[in-house]
Amino acid sequence: MYFDDVLGQEDIKTHLESAIKSGKISHAYLFTGEEGMGKLMMARAFAQALLCEEKAPGETRPCGTCHSCRQADSLNHPDIIFFRPGDAPDRKVSDYARSKVVGDMQTRPYQSKYKIYIIEEAHTLSEQVQNILLKSIEEPPSYVISILLCANRRMMIPTILSRCVEMPFRPVATSRIVSYLKQNYEITDAEAQENASFAFGNVGRAIRQSEDSGYRQRRESVIGLLSGFHEKGAYEWMPLIGTIGKDRALAGEYVDLIGEWLRDVLFYKTGAKKGDLCYDKQEYALKDMAEAMSFEDIDRALRGVEVARRHLAAAVDIELVMLNLFDSFLPRD
Ligand SMILES: [Zn+2]
Repeated sequence: MYFDDVLGQEDIKTHLESAIKSGKISHAYLFTGEEGMGKLMMARAFAQALLCEEKAPGETRPCGTCHSCRQADSLNHPDIIFFRPGDAPDRKVSDYARSKVVGDMQTRPYQSKYKIYIIEEAHTLSEQVQNILLKSIEEPPSYVISILLCANRRMMIPTILSRCVEMPFRPVATSRIVSYLKQNYEITDAEAQENASFAFGNVGRAIRQSEDSGYRQRRESVIGLLSGFHEKGAYEWMPLIGTIGKDRALAGEYVDLIGEWLRDVLFYKTGAKKGDLCYDKQEYALKDMAEAMSFEDIDRALRGVEVARRHLAAAVDIELVMLNLFDSFLPRD
């Protein structure tokens, strides 16, 4: 994995590369940004570059062929440790954090200068677990580097935030995503453009949409679902809730699609031009909805979308999240 594999995020690459060059590596980094922005890829590229055995002094690019690089590439490097909350035996995340991270870091690196802990989905960790990990960030052995990946910095305790070097991942320009999709996927220019604009700067999302042929269909189904919503009862949402089932990622995708649809309705209502709309082929449905909803209605529904995103990230029951979201659509007397 190389820095070049991550599209965009130039400021972060520059920062990490200059840290590698100067040898001034921080003990703890916090990579923040939504899922799909390249946090994990960046962490892997950074770790591989730090541990490469054949890298010339002053060079920041790992060689890609030495023993360490091959181990890093195949995710088998003994000094790059991945901590995923979901891997905790019996869901005992605090015990897992104690053994896999805090206890483990007392043992010196197996073969390298550093021992690197990549803590995934840090925003899902309870305050208790974050406090356990805090020890590894506050006073780690000199060889330890921790990289926390976090989709929502507001879920992190202040003491972690204040002790990490924070690197915010930012949306990538749509034009860059379009050319990336055209180069790497067999899709038409129009599809590349559509997938990129629906991704809102999130490369991972644009890729998923381009790889998944069902995506377009789901996008269409949202339109069907939302047209004439004001005449619908909650029971008409049930088939969608059934389709989503326990799939939290799919629920998130629907919530995003609904959010984008609402944003388009709002744009349409304020007289936006066709090119600014995601759903620009659905002018009639948009018009319909824009007439049926007041600005107040749209605002309430958009807030419902935000709440749904937060609740999905916080592991709230999916059916409840969706029902609350749909409730935010219903007109108030
Ligand atoms: Zn190497």
